[in-house]
Amino acid sequence: MTDSGVSLLQRAAQHQDRLAIVARDGQCTYAQLLQRSAHAAATFLNGHKDLAGARVAFLAPADLSYVITQWAIWQAGGVAVPLCTLHPRPELEHVIADADAEIVVSHPDYEGLVSPLAAAKGARHVSTRELLASSTHQSLPTVAAERDAMLIYTSGTTGKPKGVLTTHAIIAAQLHSVTSAWEYTARDRSLLVLPLHHLHGVLNVLLGTLWAGGVCEMHAGFDANAVWRRIMAQNGLTMFMAVPTIYSKLIAAYDAAPEADQAAMRAGCRALRLMVSGSAALPLPILERFQEISGHTLLERYGMTEIGMALGNPLHGVRLPGHVGQPFPGIEVRVVDAEENPLPEGHSGQLQVRGPSVFKGYFRRAEDTAASFTRDGFFRTGDEGVVEHGAYRILGRMSVDILKTGGYKVSALEIEAALRNHPAIVDCAVVGIDDPQWGQRVAAAVILKPKHTLSLDELRTFGKQLLAAYKVPTQLLIVDDFPRNALGKVQKKQVAALFDEKLS
Ligand code: AMP
Repeated sequence: MTDSGVSLLQRAAQHQDRLAIVARDGQCTYAQLLQRSAHAAATFLNGHKDLAGARVAFLAPADLSYVITQWAIWQAGGVAVPLCTLHPRPELEHVIADADAEIVVSHPDYEGLVSPLAAAKGARHVSTRELLASSTHQSLPTVAAERDAMLIYTSGTTGKPKGVLTTHAIIAAQLHSVTSAWEYTARDRSLLVLPLHHLHGVLNVLLGTLWAGGVCEMHAGFDANAVWRRIMAQNGLTMFMAVPTIYSKLIAAYDAAPEADQAAMRAGCRALRLMVSGSAALPLPILERFQEISGHTLLERYGMTEIGMALGNPLHGVRLPGHVGQPFPGIEVRVVDAEENPLPEGHSGQLQVRGPSVFKGYFRRAEDTAASFTRDGFFRTGDEGVVEHGAYRILGRMSVDILKTGGYKVSALEIEAALRNHPAIVDCAVVGIDDPQWGQRVAAAVILKPKHTLSLDELRTFGKQLLAAYKVPTQLLIVDDFPRNALGKVQKKQVAALFDEKLS
């Protein structure tokens, strides 16, 4: 059996008395995690033999209650559907209904919100308090690798969130790929600050660390000062992974800290072996400033709920800023034109991905699933990219970041990267606004540094020094922040709506 044919739980059994999780509600070795989740699985089964693929939606903070619930669902033969602790009621309702959840679990903090949703759906409600206290014994099913394991809802750019279904074998392949590329070992100790309804935190940090037999320290949410305190303490920490917004908040907290602390912060970063950024394009100013502070060139990678990790800069060797490197082990990536013919280096087109870590399908959406794969089994990512100097560069989502203006095709991400060089600009989000004359107009929403101003003329004069004239924004909106999702990702459709409001 290959490594990726072994499930996470089988591997966990090999690590026995090693420490697995440190969280605010306690810590657990691998053996304890397996035993406690086996008891919790018995509570789920309640005398039945196997959950047989029933969906179990669960809302828990990033602590032991999350991990024990997730492993209990798997040990009982169910499909784990993590809910987002920051989502409002209608979104939770949508996921519970769309997943057709038979059981809904909640941490006591969310009981008042979740138990009525379970009742309305006619699902059984279980509290994590009951799962964590369970001492029930019962024989558990043998769950084959091909069985469904996890359903993660992706916000997408259009329509309601869709459930991305993976099997135990797919998760194992994703874990095998990321942990071999980044050389996770049992000596690793990761700090988790990402939300756990999204693949980034679940796969790369939590499960990746546990796959290797390391220790995952879970913070229930991101707090820049708490992260810095933990990094400063060192104490065996080796890995940290986050999204660009988190790195910009860490930079702000570093800049605000007393000098004596700053020295310890820098030393703490240097004691880590790996710092990763992903889930959205990493702006160059963040990469450079964080490099000065930490000594790390953040390893930027590109992935997606549907495909796991697809492209990444090398662990050893040169990390090209603005690029996302090479395919992960076992992953095939190609760039294709509108007719889906593969394109050579230097030509931009849609990124397509194939391999054992690609998802099984959108849950109960056969048409959407069929439409997202080519005849030869490549997943259509909907992202545009190009290979340059032997490394991939992401140009953005074709639906919102690739603008058509006056007959030209332009990348919003490229324009954003140029405008971030303006001395008054902290960050910007570029979108296309429909326009009868130009097809789309290039519009920039901008966050300014304190006490700075910027007019459209000034922006355009600056932009023309770095960009072809047709790429320079003709609309400007100054904002305090951009509309973002729970992961901190900018929601481009909502940014465009701000301009529509302004123009109407
Ligand atoms: P999600 O499924 O929520 O992880 O979102 C995946 C999407 O995030 C991809 O389809 C890309 O559009 C975007 N993305 C992820 N990583 C990067 C990156 N390093 N640079 C640019 N965009 C990224």
